This record gives sequence, C-alpha cells and structure tokens, in this order.
Amino acid sequence: MSSHSKASRREFIRLASLTGAAAISSQAFAAGSKKTQGIPKNLIFLVVDGMGTGTLSLAEVYNRRLNGRSSAWFDLYKKGGYTRCLQDTASADSPVTDSAAAGSAWGCGQRTNNGAINVTPDGMRPTPLFLLAKDAGKATGLVSTCRITHATSASFVANIEERNEEDAIADQYLERELDVYLGGGLRHFKREGSDLLEPFKAKGYALATDRKSLRKSKKANKLLGLFSDSHIPYAIDRQNSEAHKDIPSLESMFESALEILSRNPQGFVLQVEAGRVDHAGHDNDPATIVHEQLEFDRCIPIARKFLEKDPDTLIVLTTDHGTGGCQLNGVGSGYLDTFDALDSLSKVSGSFESLHARYEETGSFDGPAFAKMTGISVSEEQAQQVVELVPQRNGYFNAAVAGVFEQELLEKTGVAFSSYNHTAEHVEFLAMGPGHEAFPPFIYNYQVNGILRDLLKV
Ligand SMILES: [Zn+2]
Repeated sequence: MSSHSKASRREFIRLASLTGAAAISSQAFAAGSKKTQGIPKNLIFLVVDGMGTGTLSLAEVYNRRLNGRSSAWFDLYKKGGYTRCLQDTASADSPVTDSAAAGSAWGCGQRTNNGAINVTPDGMRPTPLFLLAKDAGKATGLVSTCRITHATSASFVANIEERNEEDAIADQYLERELDVYLGGGLRHFKREGSDLLEPFKAKGYALATDRKSLRKSKKANKLLGLFSDSHIPYAIDRQNSEAHKDIPSLESMFESALEILSRNPQGFVLQVEAGRVDHAGHDNDPATIVHEQLEFDRCIPIARKFLEKDPDTLIVLTTDHGTGGCQLNGVGSGYLDTFDALDSLSKVSGSFESLHARYEETGSFDGPAFAKMTGISVSEEQAQQVVELVPQRNGYFNAAVAGVFEQELLEKTGVAFSSYNHTAEHVEFLAMGPGHEAFPPFIYNYQVNGILRDLLKV
C-alpha cells in the first residue's frame, strides 16, 4: 500500500466517523439482521431523487385538496404490511451527499466520496448490485426520467471515479449488458465519432425512441429506449405541450420494463427513478416539483398490482437525499389561505425550465410567458433582474427565476425552499413484500445493499 493510499484510508476513516459511517461492509451488517419470512425472487427498487419529507407532504396535501384522496405513498402507510425506516444519507466525505455517493451506498454497500460511483475513497471498485443479480441469473433493468447515464441509475451498474463521465458510463452499459435501459440521454449513446446504438443492436437489443416504439418493443428480450437527448422534459411540460406528446411517461416505461423482465423464471431486479424531483428542488420550482412527485406516485399502484400477481417480489420505496428544503407553508391570517394557495399551485401550467430555451435564444426573460404560466405579473425591472441574477446563480437560469420571484411564489403557492442545494435530512425508506422485516427502523444508506443481497441471495 502506498503512503498516499494509507493517508487516504486514514482520511476515509476520519471522515467516516464524522459522517456516522462505520468502515464496515454492509454484508457484515446483513449477517446480523433479523430472520425474515419469505425469500424474494424479484426486486423493484423505486426511488425518487432528492425527495425531502417536505416534498412528500406537499404532494400528499396537494393530492387530497385537488383530487380528493391520499397519494399512493400515504395510502401504503395507512394499509400496513410494510417496514418503514428513517435513512441516514451522508457520503464518505460530507454529511450532505450527492446522488453518486448515495446511489453507490445502495449499489455496493460502501460509502464513496461525492461524485464517485462505486469507487471507494481508497480506490476499491466493488461489483455493483445489479451485476451480482445478473450473475445469479436474474433479469436486470433501469428506468429513469433523467439521462439513463445519470448518477442514481449508474450506481446500480457502473464503476467510475467521476459521475460526469457519462459517455464512459454508456460504454459500461453496453459492456455490462443489463436487459432493459429506459430513459433520457441519447447524446451519450449517439455522440461525435462514436455511435453505440449499432453495437447495442448487434447484441440483440430492440431500440425505442418514442411512446409508440416503446409499446411495440414489449416482446423484445432486451431493450434500449432513449426518449430525449438529455433528461426527459418535466411532467408539467409534457402535460401542457404538444411538442412532448410522443415522450412516454415514467409509468409507461416502468410497465414496459416489468413486462420484459418478469418473463425471466429466475426473477429480476429493476430500478425505477423519478430523477427530476431533485432537479425541480434545485430549481426551487413549486409546481414542477409537485408534478414530478405525483408522476412517481402513479408508479406505486403499478408495483402493488405486480406484487399481488407475483408475491415473490420485494418492493423498496425511497429517496437518496433531500433537495432544496421544499415545504408547503401556512399562508394568510390563521393560515386560512393555504387551500387557495394549493388551488393556485394547481393552475400553474409550465416549469421555469420551459422558458430557458427562449432565454438562450434572446438573452432575455419572457415575462409575459411567465405571467401566463404562473398568474404572477412581471415588471420590466424584475425581468431585467432575472437576467442579471443568472451569473450569480452559476449560470442556472431556473434558479435565477426562483430567486427573483421567491416572495411572490410563496404568497401565491405557499411553497418555499431553504436553498438550491441538497440537504442532510434523514429520509423515508419503505420495504414491502417478502423479507421486508429485515430492514431496521433506522438505517444507514450503505446497509441497504447487504440486506438486499442477503434476501435476494446474490
Ligand atoms: Zn441534485
């Protein structure tokens, strides 16, 4: 061991103690876990990226107000038959994780530094969970509304020092050959000087590019579906714009993946990620975050229905960390205007991001479009402020919009945020189906991997 790696090992242990992570493998933890009833053959790992408890609560209250019923997530809580845990999400080098480190904790049972995917601070590259499952004969799949090469999905499959190397992650996807990849991120597969689509086809993958071709691909054994060059547009924009009508929803990608993977008699493992609740949190965009969360929520009944059909299925519902500190706040005297705020929130018809292309073209903020979308009137001065704020927000246009209209958005919708960053809050983790009793009421994210491996026998 070089003096450099000794030093980094010492540093890892120091940071591990700071962040509450013991330098042990999650397998060691799983060996001591409770005896469970039943052995799952399948795993459906449903993950919201960046869902603080405030976002979950906002979606629940919104749903009850607008749709007259609970969210599917809260419905689970009311019905029982699950284990609910509070999850600690720190990374190896910070109490506040990024998605690469949080995903790696699940993917390989070790905490990594922020930015690293299944490469530990001392340079180890443990085999990710879905490759172990594949070796055990299980079918494997990833579904996301992000680029499919983004950190959370990659954490179940890839080993890479730097999460931004998404071309290299796409190369690993080709080499490591999961059965199903569905999401955004075409630009990392069809890129200058190299086209991975042909090699994928040569390996027997069907290709899907839109809603229709996805529907037609359900009989395929292996499927690569890429529905957007970068991330899939936000749900609120897909619902309100003709331009996005050919892009499938998270639910339909999930259903297609289930249909393909569940044909394997030895079972399957599938990650389904609502990846952009995190982005809407970074954007501090109230209506967008609600619609992203509700799209995820519509996946829960699909998982439950599958569990009824195939009881050998373990379902996990969780998030990797909070983002932005999203909260519904009391509005008006005695908070009595809060219902009106939720009604206003429901009338918002687009994301801040939908105004970004126009800003790129013209260098100006489209005040009338924002006013039409949100019902908030925009002065010329405010439109100018947005443009001036972009550089101070590190070039993030959406965060500049949120910064200028923070007060108006709070008064109008009741929603406010604490920052544009991830947060250290402890988060929800729910397991149902055979083996759910194995999860303790308080869990460190790196312990999840060992329990899953124990249960799935991989
Ligand atoms: Zn994030």
